[in-house]
Amino acid sequence: MTDHKLPMRAKLATSLSRGAAALSRATGRGDGSVIGGRIALMVDPNLLAELAAGREIALISGTNGKTTTTRLTAAAMGVLGDVATNSLGANMPTGHTSALAKAGATPYAVLEVDEHYLKQVLDATHPKVVALLNLSRDQLDRAKEVAMMAALWRDALPGRDLHLVANADDPMVVWAAGKAVAAGTSVTWVAAGQRFHDDSWVCPECGASIERNGEQWACVAGNLSRPVPHWTVSGDGVVDNTGTYHHIELQLPGRVNRANAATALAVAAHFGVPPAKAVPELSKVASIAGRYAVVERDGRTIRLLLSKNPAGWLEAFDMADDVPTLLSINARDPDGLDTSWLYDVDFSPLRGRRVLVTGDRAMDLAVRLEVNDVPFEHVKSFSQALTLIPPGRLEVIANYTAFQDIRAELDRVN
Ligand SMILES: [Zn+2]
Repeated sequence: MTDHKLPMRAKLATSLSRGAAALSRATGRGDGSVIGGRIALMVDPNLLAELAAGREIALISGTNGKTTTTRLTAAAMGVLGDVATNSLGANMPTGHTSALAKAGATPYAVLEVDEHYLKQVLDATHPKVVALLNLSRDQLDRAKEVAMMAALWRDALPGRDLHLVANADDPMVVWAAGKAVAAGTSVTWVAAGQRFHDDSWVCPECGASIERNGEQWACVAGNLSRPVPHWTVSGDGVVDNTGTYHHIELQLPGRVNRANAATALAVAAHFGVPPAKAVPELSKVASIAGRYAVVERDGRTIRLLLSKNPAGWLEAFDMADDVPTLLSINARDPDGLDTSWLYDVDFSPLRGRRVLVTGDRAMDLAVRLEVNDVPFEHVKSFSQALTLIPPGRLEVIANYTAFQDIRAELDRVN
C-alpha cells in the first residue's frame, strides 16, 4: 500500500493527521498521535481501514503487557521488513490511524489494542494474527467487567480469517477464544502464565468453580479447561511449537517478560519469522516508554517499574530484585480514584527488604503494608527517598501518575 493509492479523502485526512501530530509535538503536547488520529478520523471515518488495507497486521490485546509485547513483536517482525506500530501505547483507533499514517507504506503492522476496542479494530484492520494476552481487573473490583470483556471478545472473534495466539493459562482468555476455535479458527496456545487468579475462580461458561492443580486448571462442572500449550516458557528461554528450546537474553526483567517474548515469537512465527532469527532482535529491546528504565543518580542505580493494576503489582514484585524498594501510589483520574484495590494485592513478598512509601496515597499504602506485616518508611518525595538509601540499587514500583511524577522529577534533576 502506498499513499498515492489512497482515495482523495483519505489522502487529505492522512496529511491532516501528520500536520496535527507535528503541531502537537512542536507545542509540547505529547507525541501527537492521538490528536492527529482524531482529526484524521473526523475527515475520513473509514481512514483506519484504508490505511490498514494491503498490510499484514498483528493485533495485541489484553489487560497487562500489551505495550511490551507489541514492542517485542514489532522487533521480531522487523526481520521480514518494515513494521508500522503504535509504540507509544496510543492504543485506540485514533492512535492506530495516526501510527499507520505516520509510518507510510509498510508491508507489516503490529498494533497494541485497548481491550475495549478489539472488535472495532478487527473490523477495520482485518488482521492476520490476533494475540490475546490476559484479562484481569483494573483498579477496582471489576471481576464482572472482566467477564463482560471476555464475552465481548468471544462474540467478536468468530467468522474471521485470522489466527489466534492466546494464553492457555488464563481461563478468561481461553473462554474468549473458545467460540472462534470451536468454529474452526486456528490457534497457537502459549503458556504465558497468570500471576493474578482472583478474576478467574468462576467458570465464565457455567458459573461453577475453576480448580487449579499446578499449571492445570479446569471447570469442575463443564468442559472449559487448560488447552495443551504449543509454546512454553522454560527457565531463561522458550520452547517453541516444534519442541526446540531458544535461550533468550532480555533486557526486560522477570518471567512475565519472557512470557511476553514467547507470545511475540509465536506471533512472528505465524508470519514466517524463524524464532532463531527473531530472538537476537528481542534482546535489543530495552526500556519501553520509560518502563524498566534504569537511571543513575548520585551513585544510586534506580530502576522504574510501572504497575497499573493488581496483576501488574504482583508481576512487579516478581521482577524487583531484593534491594531497597520505593512504592508510590496516587489516585488521580488515570489511576482510578479508589485505592481499595490495594487489598487485592498481597504485599508479603516485600517482607525482609527495605521498603519506602510515597505518593498522594502513601497513607493508604501504609495501612495496607501494616496489615501484611511489612515494615516501611514514609518519605515526602522520590528525592527524599534517594537521600535516605545508601549508594547502590533502588527499585521503584509506582502506579500510573505516580510513575509519571517520578519520571518528571528525574528529568528535572537531569
Ligand atoms: Zn464451566
